[in-house]
Amino acid sequence: MSLDQLLDGYQAFIEKGFASNADRYRQLEALGQSPRVMVIACADSRVDPATIFNAGPGELFIIRNVANVVPRYAPDGRAHGVSAALEFAVKVLKVSDIVVMGHAQCGGVKALLMDSADVEGIGEFVAPWMESSHEILDRVMCHSAGHDVETILGQMEEENVRLGLANLMTFPWVAEPVHDGRVRLHGMHFGIAQGRLARLDPSTNTFVTVPRSGPAAGNGGGASLP
Ligand SMILES: [Zn+2]
Repeated sequence: MSLDQLLDGYQAFIEKGFASNADRYRQLEALGQSPRVMVIACADSRVDPATIFNAGPGELFIIRNVANVVPRYAPDGRAHGVSAALEFAVKVLKVSDIVVMGHAQCGGVKALLMDSADVEGIGEFVAPWMESSHEILDRVMCHSAGHDVETILGQMEEENVRLGLANLMTFPWVAEPVHDGRVRLHGMHFGIAQGRLARLDPSTNTFVTVPRSGPAAGNGGGASLP
């Protein structure tokens, strides 16, 4: 998109999306936001949560970063972007559900697989950022014998979601409402080409394709979660 296209897009939004939701936007500014769901997703341009979940204004509280990383709880007085958003979502907005969503062909996860020569150019910040997820490389590589690179990458993307959910539980003010049922955590993975959404089934710790209806059904259907 060029800047001209951005501005054209804004005009289209004003005529359509904003016009049809004008009352909603006025209400949101006057009364504030009250989204029930927080989504932690990748910054990748192909995996916009509002698009994937067909969400309107005020419905999703979203934070996106490289590879949908969730840090561990680290109350050290330093600036932590994801933790700040999480704190706001849980303590102020009191969201009831937190989704960590990974996706296919994630560049951040792929960077973990590459050696230092391959990550030239993105080693200054991406490599250190992904370092907190380094353990997923070790976990997946332990069982990677005979698997091709694409399979390993997919397994790492899923493992990165599992790690994100585990790290959420290191925040005491997340763990407490999770334990008493006020907050639920969900792991998801989005396959771009097929539009396949998979959910982490906590009973089996595996990702299960979400069934779908409509014209595109049949390309990625599968078992449903209980
Ligand atoms: Zn990504």
